[in-house]
Amino acid sequence: MKIAVLPGDGIGPEIVAQAVKVLKALATDGMKIELEQAHIGGAGYDAAGDPLPEATMKLAQASDAVLLGAVGGWEYDKLPRPMRPEQGLLRIRKGMGVFANLRPALLYPELASASTLKPEVVSGLDIMIVRELTGDIYFGQPRGVQINDKGEREGINTMRYSESEIRRIAKVGYEIAMKRSRKMCSVDKANVLETTELWREIVTEMNKEYPEVELSHMYVDNAAMQLVRAPKQFDVMITGNIFGDILSDEASMLTGSIGMLPSASLDANKKGLYEPSHGSAPDIAGKDIANPLATILSAAMMLRYTFNNEDGATRIENAVKKVLAQGYRTVDIYTEGTQKISCSAMGDAVVKNL
Ligand code: NAD
Repeated sequence: MKIAVLPGDGIGPEIVAQAVKVLKALATDGMKIELEQAHIGGAGYDAAGDPLPEATMKLAQASDAVLLGAVGGWEYDKLPRPMRPEQGLLRIRKGMGVFANLRPALLYPELASASTLKPEVVSGLDIMIVRELTGDIYFGQPRGVQINDKGEREGINTMRYSESEIRRIAKVGYEIAMKRSRKMCSVDKANVLETTELWREIVTEMNKEYPEVELSHMYVDNAAMQLVRAPKQFDVMITGNIFGDILSDEASMLTGSIGMLPSASLDANKKGLYEPSHGSAPDIAGKDIANPLATILSAAMMLRYTFNNEDGATRIENAVKKVLAQGYRTVDIYTEGTQKISCSAMGDAVVKNL
């Protein structure tokens, strides 16, 4: 298992170090891994004048999986757009062809009180959001700001999905649904947007290949509402890039802390980019207080989806559950009566419980 490790910026190096610790602990039990580190984001800009240095992209391409921390920082906000850390992220996703973003929103019983919603609304919550990642209005051409006929500035972005792009993400959604409760809700805005009318048509047509999956459709505005009204009605949700961006952040807050949520982005051959759902949290960087669990759980997803190592994935996930049951908390999930520990101590606690 060749894994490229890209810590990035802010809390990235601290949280990635904990996930590496966990992987190395599994390796002492016989799992063969090869880890190699490189720069991305602001760290890439500082080291090589590019948020995605050529050496980093080469390493990512030569690896089976990439474990990434986070990118971004205030000190880079004034750089020209192509040099900003976030461009490194967009480019590596595009370069690796990872079009399927999996974001689970799972509520651990011990953290039910961390959610802003009532415990009875969220307890037992286990949603998997499958978001298309390389198409849609974020990448569609034409785009830009131009002067229109009336001589005023006009911003343009283009929502675009080809049939093959929809088919390949729908396939990922159906296959994940088959491994879970066989229920999938496709989210679109087919009443207004032709692009998503095509999306609905193709997802519906592909249901013939997966007749065991119970498919439903929902407009994105309703889905946003239902996620806070009755989130447990959902199991797998599949949607396009922009809707998925928004809904997955919304779903993440159902669970209380963004510091708990992993993500996986896969290509057609299950090669993947694994990263926590949160950003680089510059406000708490360097203090050893960040929650590393989202990154550690991303490493578990890596074992499951890229390396087909269900045993290793489950060991990590169970260790995280045990640590929470033992009452250990980083500051973001701390509540009275639990024990506040540092980022590195949380990594150690997970290793101990493997
Ligand atoms: P953020 O996710 O970094 O932080 C939001 C809030 O959540 C902050 O208060 C932060 O302290 C807290 N937080 C986040 N992760 C945490 C963790 N693991 N443990 C404890 N607390 C945590 O989002 P932001 O503040 O909007 O953005 C900060 C920077 O991160 C920006 O430069 C942004 O562009 C970048 N960003 C990067 C990614 C990524 O790398 N995938 C994603 C989002 C934002």
